[in-house]
Amino acid sequence: MPSYQAPRGTKDVLPSEAKRFQRLEAIARDVFRAFGFEEIRTPTFESLELFQRSLGETTDVVQKEMYVFEDRGGRSLALRPEGTAGVVRAYVEHHLSQTRPFCKLFYVGPMFRAERPQAGRYREFWQIGAESFGNASPSADAELLLLVQTLYDRLRVPDTQLRINSLGCSDCRPKYLGALLAFIHSHLELLCDDCKRRAERNPLRVLDCKTDAPKLADAPTIDAYWDDACRAHFEKTQDYLRRAGGRFVFAPRLVRGLDYYTRTVFEVTTTALGAQDALAAGGRYDTLVKQIGGPDTPALGFALGAERTLIAMDSAGALPAKNGNHLAYIAALGDAAAPVGFELLQSLRQDRALADRGWLFEGGFFEKKLGAQLTIANRLGATDAVIVGDDEIKRNEVTIKSLASGAQETLAKDRLTAHLMDRYAQGDMDQS
Ligand code: AMP
Repeated sequence: MPSYQAPRGTKDVLPSEAKRFQRLEAIARDVFRAFGFEEIRTPTFESLELFQRSLGETTDVVQKEMYVFEDRGGRSLALRPEGTAGVVRAYVEHHLSQTRPFCKLFYVGPMFRAERPQAGRYREFWQIGAESFGNASPSADAELLLLVQTLYDRLRVPDTQLRINSLGCSDCRPKYLGALLAFIHSHLELLCDDCKRRAERNPLRVLDCKTDAPKLADAPTIDAYWDDACRAHFEKTQDYLRRAGGRFVFAPRLVRGLDYYTRTVFEVTTTALGAQDALAAGGRYDTLVKQIGGPDTPALGFALGAERTLIAMDSAGALPAKNGNHLAYIAALGDAAAPVGFELLQSLRQDRALADRGWLFEGGFFEKKLGAQLTIANRLGATDAVIVGDDEIKRNEVTIKSLASGAQETLAKDRLTAHLMDRYAQGDMDQS
């Protein structure tokens, strides 16, 4: 066992995984652009108080899961457990409400929660998320849900389900919480120890408990308590969604773990994952901007878990499509050829036209025997080898060998670029 290992609950993203991650990110960026979202990057740590105020003092995340530390100046800070609080802080701090009528932002970055690690649950994990400020219309809820649906369609994650609910507002939710709490009290003996404690502080979370939820099948649901405005908002959201081909189910027991949500909440689940079946979640948070010192601004957002989304893409074999690259391996034969091979490799790498055509170049074991160099070329998946030897140098030529067929030809060195450009004519990128 090596002396050092990645800390518990963290993982290294090795190159093959990093490629898939980039693909996920690229598709997400495309979808965000199509829906008018722009990127924002905020710090990975913020003041502890920001998270306490935004997420809620009594939530599990704030009570048990944050990495809290004091810096050398004695300030209380926390590694961000989620992205919304920081984005809202930046929105307020930079007065973004004054510069744009509505403001749609997305982010990609690591989040930190001291949870018990298990498959699909880490202490450092990546979220891709979006926040939309300034639009109270149910069409904004529908738009965000359609964005999420579009994204998962584009990622080809199978068997996803978009579940939606409304948590009402500060007028109607307390009435529901009263009814729920009364029900919970009369069933207290059924609950797990965690939920017995949770019941007072955060009764909604009891509905979210994997062990207890099935025992509370008769618990009241919030739809009976919505006031007229909340009901109308939720109905219009669904109307908008249906018009635009939204696929969703109404889940009256769906709640969220953070306090800031109002009205619409949602999550995306898939049967492709085990216990950790939630891929993405979000909702509306119309009071949060004001709560942390900004103007009264309606807002909503979501975040997806990147690792879980990648696992779900994996299990169905929905691997990213081949990216149309071809690799040529530069090999040298003989002492004088090594520096020529090196120079050729570097100049080919800098050729923009070849790069645009998808050509990549590798090399670097010029002093080895030619056979050994070609073995490396094959292991790397090169389609061609470009060989320079003493004879070629004298005549200013190179030999190009197809590694699939073994066929080879010798051509003038200054014809090489044109030859490679022709080798995979546009639209014929996959012939390798
Ligand atoms: P949340 O911010 O809790 O609403 O989570 C949004 C999404 O982030 C979830 O649906 C998961 O996909 C992902 N997520 C949350 N916590 C973790 C974790 N500890 N490890 C991996 N992914 C997570």
